[in-house]
Amino acid sequence: MFDELTDSECAECGGVTQPQRMSLDEWWGDALFLFENVPVRACRDCGEVYVSSEVAKQLETEMRTKSHCTRRVSIPVVAYEEMAA
Ligand SMILES: [Zn+2]
Repeated sequence: MFDELTDSECAECGGVTQPQRMSLDEWWGDALFLFENVPVRACRDCGEVYVSSEVAKQLETEMRTKSHCTRRVSIPVVAYEEMAA
């Protein structure tokens, strides 16, 4: 899930990636974490998002410790079979 980024070229399409901040959601076991305003690089062309290994490490540490969690949200969970039934 976390892709290394060595330069500003998109590994998917060869396009240009630019720094920006966005929300990322990550599963950690049964828990889903939502990280807001994460510094990433995103491809202008295909939208692929790249997270530096440094940032990825910070996210992982937070998922282990939950030491900076500011609030919780509840999310709807829907099984497709239920809709199709
Ligand atoms: Zn791209």
